[in-house]
Amino acid sequence: MRLLLAEDDPLLGDGLKTALQAEGYTVDWFKDGRQSLQAALNEDFDIAVLDLGLPGLDGLDVLKQLRNSNSDIPVLILTARDAVDDRITGLDLGADDYLSKPFDLDELAARLRSLVRRSRGRSTPLLEYADIVLDPAAQKVRQDGVEVELTLKEFIILRYLLENQGRVVSRSRLEQTMYGWDVEIGSNTLEVHVHNLRKKLGQQLIKTVRGLGYKIG
Ligand code: CA
Repeated sequence: MRLLLAEDDPLLGDGLKTALQAEGYTVDWFKDGRQSLQAALNEDFDIAVLDLGLPGLDGLDVLKQLRNSNSDIPVLILTARDAVDDRITGLDLGADDYLSKPFDLDELAARLRSLVRRSRGRSTPLLEYADIVLDPAAQKVRQDGVEVELTLKEFIILRYLLENQGRVVSRSRLEQTMYGWDVEIGSNTLEVHVHNLRKKLGQQLIKTVRGLGYKIG
């Protein structure tokens, strides 16, 4: 799950990036409104956390231009405490949710999970396929009721494939989901993780679509 973080405060941004990575997101962090907008328009992100007070381009303008460009990326805005007007304007401009600073990281994580769920048209928090049940909040996977131990990368791949059930997910999309755009990736790393997932969950679950990518369902 690839997340765009727009936050100019270095301490808060750093803390958010670390916390969100621990939640299994691949985080690309921008400290400037204009760069955030460019990245959101040119790259595939699954969700965005947008501070409203940004240099370069104000967060509300970033949001406005995003929606004017028909981007439907789920956006959670971060506002100053008591900034009721900003929250109302942000929601009316197409933000999907908001949190006021200071906020609780667990609450942010829960709200993001809920946004992802809604953006995929799901009302249940669990991802299920055949005998597999993945719980995004608890970061746990069960097969036939028995918990299966996965590494964080394996979990991220499985979650993304389950989120996109029935659709082919390209190798590059999965790699971006795992690493973001600023890390060199070993050419067979994805294969290794998929191989390990198949060993743990059965060979039939993840199908290789030759030349295109991978698919569940
Ligand atoms: Ca700020």
